[in-house]
Amino acid sequence: MAIKVIAFDADDTLWVNEPYFQETERRFCELLEDYLPHHSVSQELFRTEMQNLPLYGYGVKAFMLCMVETALKVTEHTLNVTVIEKALELGKEMLAKPIELLDGVEDVLASLKGRYRLVVATKGDLLDQERKLKKSGLEHFFHHIEIMSDKRESDYLKLIRHLDIAPDEFIMIGNSLKSDVLPVLAIGGHAVHVPYHITWEHEKVDHHVEHDRFRSIARINEILSHL
Ligand SMILES: [Mg+2]
Repeated sequence: MAIKVIAFDADDTLWVNEPYFQETERRFCELLEDYLPHHSVSQELFRTEMQNLPLYGYGVKAFMLCMVETALKVTEHTLNVTVIEKALELGKEMLAKPIELLDGVEDVLASLKGRYRLVVATKGDLLDQERKLKKSGLEHFFHHIEIMSDKRESDYLKLIRHLDIAPDEFIMIGNSLKSDVLPVLAIGGHAVHVPYHITWEHEKVDHHVEHDRFRSIARINEILSHL
């Protein structure tokens, strides 16, 4: 491997994210438990999110709008406006959450900095991801921050062109096989999967990945012995 750039996914790779979404979803379902059981509200919310994804993209603001839309649907427009107020509050609480770095992240970045160009490649709200990066204290490790509207092959090709490298000089590290691994392998890059214990339904893939430019590790610091 002649790697020049190491790109890190952010949410659930550098710091905790999905548990906050799941906790918010649980509290949102509680707001509507007089109308439908939790799992039905959850299903409706997921359906709404998937419908709106092409319009809103990823992130907390999109999630807030989807909670409001779901509440209207579930209650057949009979809801008390305090439900909307509370859904918006839940979203704002998410935006104010502290950043909880995952184990080993700082040490890994410190030992790779200077040897490689380090990049963050993440989806989500532009403003929220910028804020999280600042709060994380990790910003100084990175040469470039790419906040992407999606992580498809074309999005990675654009990033690689921008970095002025060949695909096989690029390695992506992340917790999502669907977003961080499969598209990167497809364009000729290297990918490392670091699974996180909770995965958003939308990011789940059920097949096993085998590829000579791919490996899966249990902890992020294991990457150091593979470079
Ligand atoms: Mg992630």
